[in-house]
Formats: sequence, structure tokens, C-alpha cells
Amino acid sequence: MPTVIVATGNPGKLKEMQVYLGELGWALQLKPDALDIEETGTTFLENARLKAAGVAKALSQWAIADDSGLEVHALGGAPGIYSARYADSDQARIDRLLQELDSERGGQGSAGEGDRCAQFVCALALANPQGDIVLETEGICHGEILLAPRGSGGFGYDPIFYVPALGKSFAEMSPEQKDANSHRGVAFSQLMPHLKQLTLG
Ligand code: IMP
Repeated sequence: MPTVIVATGNPGKLKEMQVYLGELGWALQLKPDALDIEETGTTFLENARLKAAGVAKALSQWAIADDSGLEVHALGGAPGIYSARYADSDQARIDRLLQELDSERGGQGSAGEGDRCAQFVCALALANPQGDIVLETEGICHGEILLAPRGSGGFGYDPIFYVPALGKSFAEMSPEQKDANSHRGVAFSQLMPHLKQLTLG
């Protein structure tokens, strides 16, 4: 069974990858804590590449990495690659985003007008033990930022991200429905056929 390092220190992310990549029969392992790769890229894809290549090369093993976040059109794509660092907690990040969008519209409060288009992006990159990127992809989920949070599921910005095609916020979806439609689900399903053809030496 080939071993692939998941270029993250987050056990939650390892579990999530295990679900998406389960059918490949890979042994997925977390990267060692001591090995820290700086996310100095300017795009999701650059950061995913940096993490996958950095971990693979340091350990001389296959490595897979993801990088994701929310881009809000009226805010010029913010918070983007800074989604996790936008504020100190999920609640504070949501509050800041709603406030910034409100000021962008001229502080109208609850008028509900203006451009509320947004997209979640998830970049994935797989690197070989030499640190070369072998596969990469980017999954996108289009939606809108709600005026106020809705639903109690999920994490992060889920309660304010509404998917018109499904008539629900991410936080109102079952985990299965979110997985099938989210940026992450799209990215993994794009990558999967290519991963199945790969022989990890
Ligand atoms: P990371 O790529 O796991 O570091 O995620 C970056 C940040 O983007 C997270 O901390 C969340 O704030 C946000 N984010 C990424 N994916 C999602 C999602 O599916 N729902 C809500 N927030 C997300």
C-alpha cells in the first residue's frame, strides 16, 4: 500500500482526505509537526504546490496538499488566501466579512442590494518524492454572501455562503450534500480519475 503524506498538521484535514481518497487504498499520514512549510504564495494553487512539494522533498515521499478559502467579488477577492487569518474566530471572520461588505455598499445596513457574489476555491496538488508537482487542480463553488448567517452545520464561513442552485447555505446542507457540491468536493472529483491512473513508485 503506497504511503502519501498529507501536507498539513491538522488531523481533521487528514480525516477529510481519507474520505475523499479512500477508494485509492493509500496509507495517508500527517506530516511531522516539526516540518513547517511557509505559505508564501499569492494564489491557492501556489500555496498548495508549495506545501506538497516542500513536504515531499523534505521527506522523500509522495505528498498531497490543499489550500482553500472564500473570494468575495465586491471585496476584490478578499479574504481569499487570507480566509483563515481574516480574524481570530469563525464568528469574528463572519462579522468582519459582513461589515466590510456593508461598508462597500455604503453602509446601508439591511438594504440587501449590491454585488454579493462570492466563490469558494479549493486547490489540490500532488508531489512526487523528488518534490515535483505531478497533478494539480482547482475546484470552485459559486454562491452569494447572505445578509445574515443561516444554518448550524459545517464550519468557517458556511452560515453566510448561499448556493442559489440548491436554495441553501453551506451550513444548511447535510455533510453529504455539502461534500457533493463544495469547492473541495469538486476539486477531489476532478483529481480522482487522474489519481486512479497513477502508479506511485
Ligand atoms: P484551509 O485551506 O483549510 O487553511 O482553509 C482556509 C480557510 O478558508 C478556513 O479556515 C475557512 O475559514 C475557509 N474555508 C475553507 N473551506 C471552507 C468551507 O468549506 N466552509 C467554510 N469555510 C471554509
